[in-house]
Amino acid sequence: MALIQGLAAHAAGAELLPFRYDPGELRPQEVEIRISHCGVCHSDLHLISNDWSISQYPFIPGHEIVGTVVAAAPDVTSLEVGQRVGVGWQSNSCGLCEWCSRGMENLCPSMEATCVRRNGGYAQAVRVNARFAIPIPDAISSEGAAPLLCGGITVYNPLRAHGVNPSSRVGVVGIGGLGHIALQFARVFGAEVTAFSTSAAKEEEARALGAHGFVNTRESRAVRDVAGTFDFILTTINADQDWNSYIQSLRPTGTLCFVGVPPSAVSVNAFPLVAGIRTITGSPIGSPHLLREMLDVAARHGVKAQTEVSPMAKVNEAIAKVKKNKVRYRAVLAN
Ligand code: NAP
Ligand code: ZN
Repeated sequence: MALIQGLAAHAAGAELLPFRYDPGELRPQEVEIRISHCGVCHSDLHLISNDWSISQYPFIPGHEIVGTVVAAAPDVTSLEVGQRVGVGWQSNSCGLCEWCSRGMENLCPSMEATCVRRNGGYAQAVRVNARFAIPIPDAISSEGAAPLLCGGITVYNPLRAHGVNPSSRVGVVGIGGLGHIALQFARVFGAEVTAFSTSAAKEEEARALGAHGFVNTRESRAVRDVAGTFDFILTTINADQDWNSYIQSLRPTGTLCFVGVPPSAVSVNAFPLVAGIRTITGSPIGSPHLLREMLDVAARHGVKAQTEVSPMAKVNEAIAKVKKNKVRYRAVLAN
């Protein structure tokens, strides 16, 4: 079996270096995908710097993968060699537990992540369980599809699960890779959408992506000024904030939903939760079924990741730019 060539972190926070590994024999239910594009999600940066204490080195990051099936185990019936597919954060699940049988594989206790303790998509190829290789609709380009496989599904799932609709007032906090897609899906669901951003320069683009309103969170009272406004706030940032002011900006029965994980514990006053039946929750990626639905909705409603494409070999430059919050809005590596 041929070695797979990629770019790996060899220690916490280190620059990525060329790395080859032997994937062994193709296992039952597995497909091998020749990668054309891979998005740079901020979770890759967390894994490279071992922020979540789950990284094992060396490893190849990358979990917003698009490519072509080049080999399939004999028992794979759902995909064919030559088919264009995408893979997100999850690459396997047990297939048997309550959550898998309910079609919520992203909650499977034995879920395997595409680039945690295994090698991901900053590479020529990757192997995954065929259930997690999702066909890409023809209407979506490969570079445009890659960011949808993690960033897209992560925002689509909670907007959908919490019933966002034309009567909803939705806030999206952080207009980066996830946030710029969230603005578009919230708009497609018919909501009135507000972007919360530290970057005043993003206002015009946020409005073009679907936002009706823009809150510059660098202004000291900006979040307090929108108190009592939102039914649903989706926060995509990985920074600490005054979360009490976000809770205050919810209407009664409103929900603050975390998809980005702030480094410190989230500390809020219980009173506004009690008085207004407000909820704090979170959401992890989405199931293969929802990935198919999300890609279909994106294709039919023109939801598009805005990308900056560079060759795979320029991975360290791309990562540095994500770190500085300079990418508009998703870096994508291409082979
Ligand atoms: P990203 O592209 O780097 O965007 C993050 C955005 O957060 C930035 O563009 C910026 O937006 C804002 N931001 C950055 N630093 C900030 C600060 N100090 N204070 C306030 N806002 C700040 O990252 P991403 O790829 O969208 O990922 C965002 C987070 O989601 C990451 O932590 C990632 O690990 C997590 N994630 C979670 C899931 C899940 O399943 N729940 C899936 C994928 C990713 P503005 O310029 O508009 O302020
Ligand atoms: Zn991701």
